Amino acid sequence: MNTNVDNNQSTEKVAMVGTPCQIMAASLMDDYSNELGESAIDIKIGLFCMENFSYSYLKELLKKYDMDLKDVVECRVEKGRMWFYLTENRLFDISLDEAKSCMRKSCQICMDFTSEGSDISVGSVGSPEGWSTVIVRSEKGMELLEKAEAAKYIKTKAISESGIKLMERLALKKKKENVAEIKKREDMARPVLYWRTMPQNEYLEEISASQFADLKGDVIDIGACVLCGACLLTCPENIVEINDRKPQIKGTCPEGCNACYMACPRTYVPDTISNRDTEKSPFGDYVKIVSAQASMFQGQDGGVATALLSYAVTSKMVDEALVVDKSTSEPWKPEAKLTGNVEEIVKASGTKYSACPIFKPLKELESK
Ligand SMILES: Cc1cc2nc3c(=O)[nH]c(=O)nc-3n(C[C@H](O)[C@H](O)[C@H](O)COP(=O)(O)OP(=O)(O)OC[C@H]3O[C@@H](n4cnc5c(N)ncnc54)[C@H](O)[C@@H]3O)c2cc1C
Ligand code: SF4
Ligand code: SF4
Ligand code: SF4
Repeated sequence: MNTNVDNNQSTEKVAMVGTPCQIMAASLMDDYSNELGESAIDIKIGLFCMENFSYSYLKELLKKYDMDLKDVVECRVEKGRMWFYLTENRLFDISLDEAKSCMRKSCQICMDFTSEGSDISVGSVGSPEGWSTVIVRSEKGMELLEKAEAAKYIKTKAISESGIKLMERLALKKKKENVAEIKKREDMARPVLYWRTMPQNEYLEEISASQFADLKGDVIDIGACVLCGACLLTCPENIVEINDRKPQIKGTCPEGCNACYMACPRTYVPDTISNRDTEKSPFGDYVKIVSAQASMFQGQDGGVATALLSYAVTSKMVDEALVVDKSTSEPWKPEAKLTGNVEEIVKASGTKYSACPIFKPLKELESK
């Protein structure tokens, strides 16, 4: 058991936006704050996510077609194809099957389409073009939605029955396909630990002596790492580094510490976090589902993620927002940013279809 409870203490309140796997890591850090230190994340805005891609593989694939990511203005996955909107109104697309050759291995075992652990989830599926689908899951999520609507940051309308059916179909499709992959890996003696949910006390016992070497063997080396950076954030010794692809350590783990293993969303997960009743509840527990559109922001779909974050910061519900912007040095490479500036939140709108260690900027906040 990790005994360093001073780790990652923070008085700042942060609203984050992230993929379902990143939201799961945030939930673990929240639920185990006694062991991991108080988490700065106060509001979790989860995105829908069917799959994600390796940045370097995607770049290589596009090179085959003489395409350069620096010419891409917007990227969308829609109707079975990946669309690249280019400068000078050009359009290039590849089939999703071809793009899937660049899919991250960890996405093949992912069971969550709609960020089931978030306060409020946002996606495009289920709503008309230019609108987002919003699933409210907690009181905090409801407060954010209602206040943002009252302040005219967003408008909402009822979601159609066919929209709900489509979401249900896609969420179940992801779970069905990926549970088959989980079983395949388990049959090949490559256990998918996060699928082995267990009661809290058993979970704490099971992971009590697990350190970075176990994380490497159980998650990183077998293609289950989602590159979220929760291991880096929670390490009290500051010895975890993520320089591009994989977490590594530079140093030795002291006896008794298991923080990285506990915060990782791809090691064992307690049954309080993971929803196994997939047939009954394909997108987890929720209070309300609506279609929504931002009144003053443009985004990937309805601009709702940007509007909710901007409202949360402007109204001082939180101090800062954790967003994923594009790197300034490599086109379309995602880069996490912590900011209290609405212009920067707006600049980070739009989907970047690859992964980045989203929690890294919180480490810098901690050291401030
Ligand atoms: C990898 C990925 C796959 C997705 N797949 C689907 C899907 O299959 N079906 C579906 O309905 N929706 C999917 N989405 C969600 C969709 O693309 C939109 O993000 C969502 O509908 C919100 O739209 P918006 O206009 O409200 O967001 P915007 O206002 O444009 O804001 C988008 C927010 O997403 C954040 N963001 C961008 N890229 C990333 C990233 N790589 N990781 C974490 N955060 C990021 C930004 O910080 C920004 O705040 C996916 C998103 C991602 C990141
Ligand atoms: S593991 Fe992949 S598919 Fe699952 S939420 Fe993360 S990025 Fe999306
Ligand atoms: S890398 Fe070692 S010291 Fe750091 S959190 Fe993991 S077990 Fe603890
Ligand atoms: S090993 Fe680290 S970066 Fe990878 S999923 Fe686990 S916590 Fe996230």
